[in-house]
Amino acid sequence: MKISSKEYQKYSKQIILKKIGVVGQKKIKSSKVLILGMGGLGCPLSVYLANLGVGTIGIVDNDKVELSNLNRQIIYNLDDIGKYKVNVVRKKIKLINKNLKVKSYNIRANKNNIKKLIKNFDIVCDGTDNFETRLLVNDSSLKQKKILISAAVSGFDGHIFKFNFKKKSPCYRCFMPEIPEQINNCETEGVIPTLTGIMGTLQANEVVNSILNFNSGMEKKMIVFNSIKMSFRTINLSRNKNCINKC
Ligand SMILES: [Zn+2]
Repeated sequence: MKISSKEYQKYSKQIILKKIGVVGQKKIKSSKVLILGMGGLGCPLSVYLANLGVGTIGIVDNDKVELSNLNRQIIYNLDDIGKYKVNVVRKKIKLINKNLKVKSYNIRANKNNIKKLIKNFDIVCDGTDNFETRLLVNDSSLKQKKILISAAVSGFDGHIFKFNFKKKSPCYRCFMPEIPEQINNCETEGVIPTLTGIMGTLQANEVVNSILNFNSGMEKKMIVFNSIKMSFRTINLSRNKNCINKC
């Protein structure tokens, strides 16, 4: 993996960081990151990963852009309404980095395709808005020993957690064994737009930490951010011996 002189110039402000350097930039360029859900989280996440110089980005979503998306899904504009999200995102992030390999999947993740979707990526980012997909992505990432960085938003609260399934780790089912009866998500609860931007950006930040082996302490932890109090709360996660995944 080589860094051209143009790339050196483009990424100079991160390459001059001693902890990154050319070696780190090569790692970023050779990394493959999958994003599930091109909504409020997936938009800032995909843009930051493209800006950072991540070499391969996979995007998964089968929705079309709607007017009610535009308050928080910052890649799209009025001209994009009615277009498939993955097609719009693909085009726009290629404009940031024309060497970027974008693998777009205009499908909804389900139990039949999830294994194949995740297989060729090192890091999986979940930005979907439902528990069913979140559990599916968790189970498959665990089986395939991937790094999973998952975020969720509702109202004024955002959650982020990371599992490194290359090691012994708790999994999402350890504290959310089944789909809860009362479901809170941004469809039913509403969400403050800036929160999706913050949480999607935190996911991108944790992707970089993972690629560069920076120890953020995020493994085995969940962080809850409240946008009104401007507070971060940390919850320690531990393996549940009754977890059906035997993680
Ligand atoms: Zn578990």
